Amino acid sequence: MVKKKVLRIIAIIFPIIGLIHGLISYSSTIFFTWLLIGLWIIFTMKIFENIKRHREFNSPHNTAFFVILPLFIGIFYSIWGSFTGLLGESLIGGVYFSLWSLIFAFPFIMYGLYSLYRCFKKYNVIYFGKKSVKARMLGYILSFSVLILIIAYWITFYNFTLLDLNLLLLFIAIVLILIVFGFTSTGSSIPTLTRDYIAERTRRINNLTTPSTQRQRVHTTRTTNTSPSTRTTTRTTRSRTQSSRTTPTSHRQTARTRTTNTTRTTRVKPTSKVRDLNKYKPRASYLTVDDFKCIFCFNLPKLPGDRGRGIVVCPNCRYPAHADEFKDWMRTSNLCSRCSAVIPSGFRRNPRIVSVKNYLIIYRHFLKKKR
Ligand SMILES: [Zn+2]
Ligand SMILES: [Zn+2]
Repeated sequence: MVKKKVLRIIAIIFPIIGLIHGLISYSSTIFFTWLLIGLWIIFTMKIFENIKRHREFNSPHNTAFFVILPLFIGIFYSIWGSFTGLLGESLIGGVYFSLWSLIFAFPFIMYGLYSLYRCFKKYNVIYFGKKSVKARMLGYILSFSVLILIIAYWITFYNFTLLDLNLLLLFIAIVLILIVFGFTSTGSSIPTLTRDYIAERTRRINNLTTPSTQRQRVHTTRTTNTSPSTRTTTRTTRSRTQSSRTTPTSHRQTARTRTTNTTRTTRVKPTSKVRDLNKYKPRASYLTVDDFKCIFCFNLPKLPGDRGRGIVVCPNCRYPAHADEFKDWMRTSNLCSRCSAVIPSGFRRNPRIVSVKNYLIIYRHFLKKKR
């Protein structure tokens, strides 16, 4: 892996530079400074890597790693600024703020403050590995320990160093955060489950888990949809705006094109959550009942036998599986058991589950269409 290699090179090169530079200038601080620069790069890369991973899984940054580490890295590098042999000259008179503070400490201080703010406003819990701590509680503990740390530092080194601007900013910001969010506001409460809220969430989740393979498959050749088929089902409600909105999307140049057009604008039921039936249509040129059987147990989803189980369709081949069997399978494989396509990690973690009731509507719709 390239990343590991880069980390190893950094871990070797910076001590060497430090050693050489330190020997030339007879200074151990310079050696340590180079060492710290190397460590800083490794930290920064680690943080970006973690952010990327969290984004992939769409999970919030409420782990100890994101909340605690940046804050203390920021403080440590701020303090080291006063002792560094490199870039350590203060740029402003009266207070200490050097290039070193700006580059190595300031971004982490800012990120740490942002995390602290989120402890009070956004998160409910912070995770330490698998254990969780109340976010507000951790916010208080962190805030006060940082305040105490800064005061202790100021008292100890009062005579030796200038007032560090980074730490001063941090101190003021933490006091403000404590006053504004810590003591006055009640923090984020869990939103009430109104009908609108649920609809909004469902829409967002549906957007998140829309398999990317489908989007890539959209053809650029536009066949104009001037004569929509009249063979729509009785339940079809087609509005002009809806059909014009859906025109540019996927037209396959097969005999299925026409049914595609009509089903795009078909709604199953006003109350149903399933809006785009084609997302659940197995990729087969000729659909039979067999195409709607679970790819694991080969049973057709049915009620009341499958009550409460749910159906997941593969984002690639769109063949159905019982949600529980799909999740079991995903524990040992990341490939679809039918088409062997890689299931995107987001989908694996949070597959879109259709209720059996809705799936019955879906497959009956497709089988009826065929006749
Ligand atoms: Zn099954
Ligand atoms: Zn598949």
